[in-house]
Amino acid sequence: MQNIKEYVEAKKLALKEQLKNNNLKAVIVQVGDVEASNRYVRNKIRDLEEVGITTELIKFPETISEDALLDRLHKLNIDYSVTGYLVQLPLPKHISEERINSVIYPWKDIDGFNVLSKTVPATPLGVYTYLKDMNFEFSGKNAVIIGRSHIVGRPMHKLLLDANMNVTVLHTKTSEEDKRFYLEHADLIVVAAGNANVLNKSYKLKETAVVMDVGINFNEEGKLIGDCEKDLPVAFQSPVPGGCGLLTRLAVIENLIALSKN
Ligand code: NAD
Repeated sequence: MQNIKEYVEAKKLALKEQLKNNNLKAVIVQVGDVEASNRYVRNKIRDLEEVGITTELIKFPETISEDALLDRLHKLNIDYSVTGYLVQLPLPKHISEERINSVIYPWKDIDGFNVLSKTVPATPLGVYTYLKDMNFEFSGKNAVIIGRSHIVGRPMHKLLLDANMNVTVLHTKTSEEDKRFYLEHADLIVVAAGNANVLNKSYKLKETAVVMDVGINFNEEGKLIGDCEKDLPVAFQSPVPGGCGLLTRLAVIENLIALSKN
């Protein structure tokens, strides 16, 4: 498996070449001023601009009403200069994420969070595309996904099932005994639980297994860590940072390009 940072850099160079003289435009809508969101937004803008896509950040104060935000999204839906847009999550509690996602027109939906969109959410898409590019053998192999969210676990399940894997999704109601059983037989493990150490050295794993760690957590020293203990005895484990986050950001660019073709 190729180092993820190098893989992403090479793909971005190729995209930059492919996008010469493009007139694509991505809009990022942000509500509030949470530092983690500021960082994600900054990174997405930097990546998009690096490959030559015009970006615009529309930032609202945390106090904006749901109606005012919806009103702005309706305008973006019919703005023909905008190829696609995304609304950075999480939103403040008084705004329903479900309602916001449901008004984003599917053909403008970079993140694919509207259930009617064909866009695949960027994190599972990024993980899947990387594995495909690495010639990972999906067909007939066992995949275990830890986490069943609508933005990671479930779309990951669909992608891997469509690639002919035998897919098991584990979650908070899975017994420890079953978790150990399924993990022991897994060729691919995608961990998206949002809990540090969910996968650790106490589990018996195949030494040929590939582990993709999607989790983002901060330890007591404020250091970014994933959901998995480091240096698991497997064939490949994606690092955190420098792993699935980079693949997600690459998939955001690819989703925007896909929207421009529809
Ligand atoms: P979520 O909270 O919506 O869902 C977490 C899922 O994990 C739930 O289905 C829950 O049942 C399951 N879960 C939690 N603890 C578990 C445990 N101990 N055992 C088994 N299942 C457990 O989270 P999400 O939006 O899917 O994100 C998951 C993690 O991935 C978070 O840390 C998030 O920050 C991170 N994330 C990273 C990226 C990226 O770009 N790297 C993108 C999206 C999400």
